[in-house]
Amino acid sequence: MDVVVVGGGPAGRALARACAARGLGTTLVDPYPERPWRATYATWADELPDDAPVAVSTSRSRAVTTAEHVIARGYAVLDNERLRWLPDGVRVVAGRVVDRTGTSVTLAGGRRLTGRVVDATGAAGGRAAQTAVGVVVPAAEAVPFVGPDEALIMDWRRPPAATTADPTFLYAIPVSADEVLLEETSLARRPGLPLRELRLRLHARLAAHGIGVPEGEERVRIPLDGRPRDEAFGAAAGWIHPATGYSVATALRRAPVVADAIAAGRSVRRSAAERAVRGLRLRGLAALLALPPEEVPEFFNSFFELSGSLQRAYLGGHDDLPGTVHAMLRLFGATSWPMRARLAFPVQSTKSTRTPG
Ligand SMILES: Cc1cc2nc3c(=O)[nH]c(=O)nc-3n(C[C@H](O)[C@H](O)[C@H](O)COP(=O)(O)OP(=O)(O)OC[C@H]3O[C@@H](n4cnc5c(N)ncnc54)[C@H](O)[C@@H]3O)c2cc1C
Repeated sequence: MDVVVVGGGPAGRALARACAARGLGTTLVDPYPERPWRATYATWADELPDDAPVAVSTSRSRAVTTAEHVIARGYAVLDNERLRWLPDGVRVVAGRVVDRTGTSVTLAGGRRLTGRVVDATGAAGGRAAQTAVGVVVPAAEAVPFVGPDEALIMDWRRPPAATTADPTFLYAIPVSADEVLLEETSLARRPGLPLRELRLRLHARLAAHGIGVPEGEERVRIPLDGRPRDEAFGAAAGWIHPATGYSVATALRRAPVVADAIAAGRSVRRSAAERAVRGLRLRGLAALLALPPEEVPEFFNSFFELSGSLQRAYLGGHDDLPGTVHAMLRLFGATSWPMRARLAFPVQSTKSTRTPG
């Protein structure tokens, strides 16, 4: 049977490529299939499949919480052109799907396409979001923040200016041989921290080191607790990790597996393990949202003190239930008693839900 992939983001395209490679008649539908992507997609290098289109990678990473952690784990920035690429075997249709069944979709305007339908339209619903504002600066200027061959995953030291108590961190990664993306990030907030507050903080960090504000900025808003769908793929299937905002590596890893299932006529419903991991991760999100802002760096300090394998289990495997449970229990046990009480009985403070200005 032919396949209709609805949504042409990183996930939909990875699945369409994998379906076409298995000889399935594949159609990809997106309202703006030719629109360039402005997002910088990055992830831990060891979470990517071997054929992932990597543009730049580092051999180590660093995090600054209440202490500094050097992480023996490479980080990779993906090449958007190759991430977008589709073989000639994929038919691309420009249009918005307004109605669908399991075997057909209707586009705005009435056109109908038939085939096994997979929803790759991204995350929908939910109120918690990761938000960020980033700029690209010459690597030589970024030296106060990030050194050569490293990625700064998070630096929780407070920026020189802030108008709210919300915790944010600096993320700094190389995006080419001589450029670095500096991004002020609110990891999770309900609702997402407004971009103007993030911009103010980022510009203050730049000014403190005499770095001018370059033209153009990357604006990030990633829904963290959207409702997952069945017969879906990527963010639509609930693969965005609520503690990182990441889903692209999972989509790239899962594309061949899901294409095999489609080719064999099997369902691509979420497994019990996947649902359970999602539930646990959402509990982790609720706990994080309930922490007082000043305790968030301490929480991540406990996280980066876990073994590398526990860190990987918590951040990776969207269906690794034993790994997720083990990592969460060890993290819980590694925190202080007062923090444990807050993590066990999370109540979101009014302070962190208030929107400034
Ligand atoms: C600026 C930015 C930076 C990010 N950085 C990272 C990162 O570094 N690492 C990471 O893992 N994640 C990152 N994310 C999160 C990221 O959104 C998701 O991880 C990723 O884009 C999800 O891919 P997706 O293909 O599942 O969904 P999306 O990228 O959201 O793609 C969904 C597609 O479906 C289309 N669509 C929607 N509705 C319809 C419809 N009715 N009919 C047809 N088509 C439709 C949309 O036009 C869109 O093209 C970032 C997000 C942003 C915004």
